[in-house]
Amino acid sequence: MNYISTRGNTAPMPFSDVLLMGLAPDGGLMLPEDYPQIDRATLDAWRHLSYPELAFAIMRLFATDIPEADLQDIINRTYTSEVFGSDDIVPVRSIKDYKQGLYVLELSNGPTLAFKDVAMQFLGNAFEYVLKAKNERLTIIGATSGDTGSAAEYALRGKDNIEVFMMSPHGKMSEFQRAQMYSLTDANIHNIAIQGMFDDCQDIVKALQEDVDFKTKYSLGTVNSINWGRILAQIVYYFKAYFAVSNSNDDMVSFCVPSGNFGNICAGHIAREMGLPIDRLIVATNENDVLNDFFNGGKYSPRSAQDTYVTSSPSMDISKASNFERFIYLLLEKDSARVGDLFTGVKSGQGFDLSDVAELVSNRYGFAAGKSTHANRLATIKAVYEATGDLIDPHTADGIKVASELQRDDEVIICCETALPAKFSDTIIEAVGNVTLPRPKHTEGLEDLPQKVTVLANDAELVADEIRKVVEPKE
Ligand SMILES: *Cc1c(COP(=O)(O)O)cnc(C)c1O
Repeated sequence: MNYISTRGNTAPMPFSDVLLMGLAPDGGLMLPEDYPQIDRATLDAWRHLSYPELAFAIMRLFATDIPEADLQDIINRTYTSEVFGSDDIVPVRSIKDYKQGLYVLELSNGPTLAFKDVAMQFLGNAFEYVLKAKNERLTIIGATSGDTGSAAEYALRGKDNIEVFMMSPHGKMSEFQRAQMYSLTDANIHNIAIQGMFDDCQDIVKALQEDVDFKTKYSLGTVNSINWGRILAQIVYYFKAYFAVSNSNDDMVSFCVPSGNFGNICAGHIAREMGLPIDRLIVATNENDVLNDFFNGGKYSPRSAQDTYVTSSPSMDISKASNFERFIYLLLEKDSARVGDLFTGVKSGQGFDLSDVAELVSNRYGFAAGKSTHANRLATIKAVYEATGDLIDPHTADGIKVASELQRDDEVIICCETALPAKFSDTIIEAVGNVTLPRPKHTEGLEDLPQKVTVLANDAELVADEIRKVVEPKE
């Protein structure tokens, strides 16, 4: 299988090259030339596979240039009960006592208690494998306000040929998030607290990436949500969850996904395109509702950074959805030139209007969307707690709020649980009062561990110096 860019100006390349890439050289996103089609007999055969078996069955269709025994080995080392807490890896539970027909897909039982672990843990092992095969090394730089940075660090810690430099805003993360990242003692993990805001951290990453000389010399790379390997790993759990709640492959099931950069639900969209019997894909947004607007009428109006709200579901506080282009490419029948025009506009702050094909978006592609606010979030956390005894995190609450609102008669909806409540204790306590938040064993006492972090002024050159201290430059 070969991969191409949504903008049409990048030579086709195999999986192992795409894996290490961020944006395509032409500015687009990489995706497979075609999505493989899964017939009914194959679906029947997949229904009873274990998580690692299913992951292998799906990923081998996309990673055709990796020898199957090696791919199997990467997957077997990634999806274990030691890392994800159970052999199911992503268990599904019913919340019918809250609302009939609703289920929660537990994606957040990995090391950092957020769904990003499911893909990132795979990426860490896959990166290590590919770098060894190519005899290359990689310096991952990133900016985080919490979830992404910790998921990346826990996936890449101790990996050969990889150094990680993660910028976070000094004093701006929760105590739990700080402890999670800064307590890592692995020699290849470098935490840098910048005296500034999250946007300043992001600007530093951008400045270093745009310095082509520096980027090449120090083999800079990123692991942000546009990475194809992350999308691929996420496709697997849509199949797994579908099999878990359906009786046979005649049933239709919907998904509701708390969304920010459109990475998670993009994987659901691809699973549906492959032939998984998904009825609707419901996008749930918070107050940053650019996707809700698009999926209800076809107008896409990205925000500027200043117009992006700071909310109590912070991992969905986005101004534009960086994976959205992968869907629009298909919607516009692979018209790369038009996709390029639209997203060049987006980059300079313009929106676009595809209301003429809004019908297709819902009827052909199954999308629907809704929005949730701080008040909705608190009310949903409380109502689910009172009905079921389960605490849910604020992002998951946005999903459950929207799913409840849009659910049709007899529709089965699986809501993705994108984080555990322990990560967002302030909002949980605001919603239900003083409760003891359940914490997985491996995070007990985390805040008492010694921490390792370098505090720097807001200056990209100081970060470059830290990289120079550690990484041997390429000739
Ligand atoms: C990243 C994240 C999201 C948003 O996922 P996208 O793939 O960006 O749509 C939602 N909830 C949590 C907790 C996250 O960490």
